Amino acid sequence: MVEAALKKNRRDLHDLGILLSPAAAAYLEDMASEVRRETLRFFGRNIGLYTPLYVANYCVNECVYCGYNRSNQIRRGRLTEGEIEDEARAIAATGLTDILLLTGESRAQSGVKYIGRATEILARHFKSVGLEVYPLKTEEYQYLQNLGADFVSVYQETYDPLLYNKVHLSGPKKNYAWRFNAQERALEAGFRGVAFGALLGLGDLRRDTLASGAHAWLISKKFPLAEIAFSTPRLRPCPNKEKTSCQVGETELTQIILALKLFMPWAGLSLSTRERAWYRDNMIGLGVTRLSAGVKTAVGGHSGDDKGDEQFHKSDSRDVQEVCRAIIERGFQPVFNDYVRL
Ligand code: SF4
Repeated sequence: MVEAALKKNRRDLHDLGILLSPAAAAYLEDMASEVRRETLRFFGRNIGLYTPLYVANYCVNECVYCGYNRSNQIRRGRLTEGEIEDEARAIAATGLTDILLLTGESRAQSGVKYIGRATEILARHFKSVGLEVYPLKTEEYQYLQNLGADFVSVYQETYDPLLYNKVHLSGPKKNYAWRFNAQERALEAGFRGVAFGALLGLGDLRRDTLASGAHAWLISKKFPLAEIAFSTPRLRPCPNKEKTSCQVGETELTQIILALKLFMPWAGLSLSTRERAWYRDNMIGLGVTRLSAGVKTAVGGHSGDDKGDEQFHKSDSRDVQEVCRAIIERGFQPVFNDYVRL
């Protein structure tokens, strides 16, 4: 069955299930060569670069796996408009033109107007502004899109509704359906693309990956012009939860990435600094299309001292030049921008 799925030119959800199965683990080399070929076909020898900017870490939710969990005693902070401007200048000086704006979920501390001001400031310095904030209403997405944001990432964490309810102890994030439909609202509002993913290590990794593939596939059918991307974050230790360990190993993570790319080879895939440098480097050419660089996971910290604790401990601290060198050494081209807003 695995061999038959590998031979196909186009694969369906059933094939994704097969490629995620334990039986497919014996075919990782074959999956990798097919992914290498498909990724070159759709993306060439290009790796996009971006960096996240955490502008606030206040949160009203209680997600058991996250350092920003409202019951976690950490240093909270929020950047002022001037500080966002300073951060933007410092990041833009590294050559990056693609930024991802992040907040925790707090409409009191980081409401839509605040995110809007941050978006306006960032849009003056960067060609692409992605959002990784709490799920919004369609008209709120429209508002932020008009101010210069163009891409939305919302990760479902787990697609198992019972487990979802269990790991989100309180707060608006308990509403599974509201989060599940966020990408659809963002695309209806005019965003050019959206990202999907589950937090690996939380639930059954195969079911969650199959479900995120199905979710992305359905949205791509409804919005055929939308840019679709995946992310495959693994659980990481975070402030006050230093002992967190992820049960998903690198071999399993590799199988997940390869299976998703064989299912939707035209979809982008980001690999964050949750992963170690050597792993990120080795996945260049194996389905990964975007890497973050020069990452800070605390609030601010690019232009001076940070203002709040980090969301998780990262595993790759390299700056933009170091990540560029690693990409070039593997025969690929670091791409700072492939999008122009008209
Ligand atoms: S995962 Fe998001 S919503 Fe949950 S506690 Fe962390 S920042 Fe808040």
